[in-house]
Amino acid sequence: MDLVGRHFLVAGGAGFLGSHLVDRLLVEGSRVTVFDSLVTGQRDNLQDHASLEFHHLDIISLDVESWAQKLGRLDGVFNLASPASPVDFSRIPDLILQTATHGHRQLLELAKRAGCRILFASSSEVYGDAEVHPQPESYFGNVNSFGHRSCYDEAKRVGEALSLAWKLEHGVSIRIARIFNTYGPRMRLDDGRIIPNFAVQALQREPLTVYGDGQQTRSFTFVKDEVDGLLRLFQSDLDRPVNIGSTFEHTVAEVAALVNELTGNPAGIRNLPLPPNDPKQRRPDISLAKAALGWSPQTGFRGGLKETIAEFQARLARRGEPLKTKTVSSG
Ligand code: UDP
Repeated sequence: MDLVGRHFLVAGGAGFLGSHLVDRLLVEGSRVTVFDSLVTGQRDNLQDHASLEFHHLDIISLDVESWAQKLGRLDGVFNLASPASPVDFSRIPDLILQTATHGHRQLLELAKRAGCRILFASSSEVYGDAEVHPQPESYFGNVNSFGHRSCYDEAKRVGEALSLAWKLEHGVSIRIARIFNTYGPRMRLDDGRIIPNFAVQALQREPLTVYGDGQQTRSFTFVKDEVDGLLRLFQSDLDRPVNIGSTFEHTVAEVAALVNELTGNPAGIRNLPLPPNDPKQRRPDISLAKAALGWSPQTGFRGGLKETIAEFQARLARRGEPLKTKTVSSG
């Protein structure tokens, strides 16, 4: 699908990932409407643009019928609405569950009425604490339905199931991206995730809060690569889940060492208890994305981190006062 002159709805478009997707769509010549509740998104993430319309609203309480009329012709919906940081999992678990279930259902209905395609931002969390490594799309996962992460893991699983239900029952054209750890400029500095926590702590010359022994791994995708994967998936004919994530796998201890090196932070690390159900190993098998979408991550971890840390540093300087990072135990 050519993107020029198309009209897209991006739910969660003022969030970290959403706002980068909006930027890219605008560059491609599309018109974009954003819905965002601003629970974790930030209005400042979006710059004014003649082809951009912002609406401060929550997809959970969306009046689908009136919006179907107001939006007019729609060529696609991207549902990127959801808080995604483990520190939010104990703060607002009910909202997280409702967003990917009832909220997503509302957008499926909107897409049905508009006769357009909808992409659901699912997550590597559907694999839980994976017993298969790396994780292919065919792996069903190892998820605890009654634990610290269950609001997010189960919400994303239901979001996938709902997408399939609306494809089968209503013929809606669906796309499902399983997004792995993504980082880059515009992440909330106090969102509690590893990259903002470590970068902010290092820039403030504090020890980095490493949970457990730091031997757990994640694979880190730079946000621009992630957005490119999402767009390729949207434009493809793959209507089943696809892993969109980098294969650059690092232990948490390695990430801490690299961030301290890049920032010249002499304060080292501080170990905190490992939160329950923290997945031990995470890396996607991206054979499908490579073969079917021609997609693979292009940005190296070191280069992506440098760009990210520079943007964080500028924001911290504008703040003018120290920022207290959140850890899972501190909430
Ligand atoms: N982590 C850490 N210290 C922090 C934040 C995160 O050691 O201050 C670890 C966490 O235990 C996990 C990894 O970094 O193993 C990634 O955590 P994040 O919250 O970014 O996302 P997750 O992939 O766990 O959802």
